[in-house]
Amino acid sequence: MSLIVQKYGGTSVSDISRMMHVARKIKATQNAGHSVVVVVSAMGHETDRLDDLAHQIMDNPTPRELDVLLATGEQVSIALLCMALHSMGCPARSYTGAQVAIRTNSVHTKSRIEHIDDEKIRADLAQGMVVVVAGFQGIDAAGNTTTLGRGGSDTTAVALAAALKADECQIYTDVDGVYTTDPRMVSDARRMPRVTFDEMLELSSLGAQVLQIRAVEFAGKYNVPLRVLSTFKEGSGTLITFDEKSMEQPIVSGIAFSREEAKLIIRGVPDKPGIAGQILGPISDANIEVDMIVQILGDDGNTDFAFTVHRRDYEQAFAILREVNDELGAGGVLGDAKIAKVSLVGVGMRSHAGIASTMFKVLGAEGINIQLVATSEIKVSVLVDEKYLELGVRALHEAFRLHEDPYEEEAERRRLRA
Ligand code: ASP
Ligand code: MG
Repeated sequence: MSLIVQKYGGTSVSDISRMMHVARKIKATQNAGHSVVVVVSAMGHETDRLDDLAHQIMDNPTPRELDVLLATGEQVSIALLCMALHSMGCPARSYTGAQVAIRTNSVHTKSRIEHIDDEKIRADLAQGMVVVVAGFQGIDAAGNTTTLGRGGSDTTAVALAAALKADECQIYTDVDGVYTTDPRMVSDARRMPRVTFDEMLELSSLGAQVLQIRAVEFAGKYNVPLRVLSTFKEGSGTLITFDEKSMEQPIVSGIAFSREEAKLIIRGVPDKPGIAGQILGPISDANIEVDMIVQILGDDGNTDFAFTVHRRDYEQAFAILREVNDELGAGGVLGDAKIAKVSLVGVGMRSHAGIASTMFKVLGAEGINIQLVATSEIKVSVLVDEKYLELGVRALHEAFRLHEDPYEEEAERRRLRA
């Protein structure tokens, strides 16, 4: 008998009929002989609704009270879901974050889990109960209600799975897995049966928004096997695994992209030690995150310094850079907020050279100019004009044959050999 933690997101419990559907799935899991702990989010857009109410009162709602308010959404869900289970004759008990004792630090609206007391849950499971826990919330040492940041129920689920040493943490959502790229952009994008943690981190941070990134980090750290699957469609979803070696690993696993990029360039700065810090220091002091960084040396001993930020930070970063420019007596500031980032991701790149050059060739053949490049062991990212994003992603998906199932092919090859 195994212990499974299942998490159902807001869309999965947005009304009573969906709630009943979820209850049936939980009951079926228990009937199959598993112990089940369920984490549930607030119904549909409830958290947004509550947040909006607070903002009708003040621009910056008091963080402590905002947490008290937002945490109510999940409390509604746990009670209704337990009633749904009871109506089917399935024993179940609900707990708020505080009742389970999901202890967090005191950073309201983005607190971190420090400890989970699993005693109550284990006792209930031993009695054959389904345990339903409110996602997204906890309690600090002083007894204040805290929340984990938007999308935080994923983290609750993973943390519970880690604390209980669950056999699997299943994240049920409205998509049926993680795809080779966004299926809304590339129609023959393929669901990946498995993906490694490292790949998933790259894919989620780059915009494949299926899982809260903190939850993936947490799962990787505590070795929690994580599976993403659909509430509404049967299937085995995508398993996120640490096990690279047992996978017949394709070189490129997926393509992530983001339209949220902006590029800034400061020209003609003196090429001397400390200059990068002088330019980026004020940017990070303003809490603006910098992604790609490139320094190009000119032949006059001056350099052009380019970097990217999230598009929402563009105006502010531009203003800061103007000041830096004046202080340094540099040659001016340029920028472009209409750019996009495309990244090839795959752990197979570790052992294969030449992926970047293939990528450049493919984009070049489509007449797409590459503005910046960044690479890591398992990723190549390029910056392109936003208007070429779709074209670029489609061409790369085709060129790297991501629509073909590498596991199927490998199995086929083995069959032929045998
Ligand atoms: N209800 C919270 C939110 O909407 C937490 C979650 O759904 O994960 O962000
Ligand atoms: Mg969510």
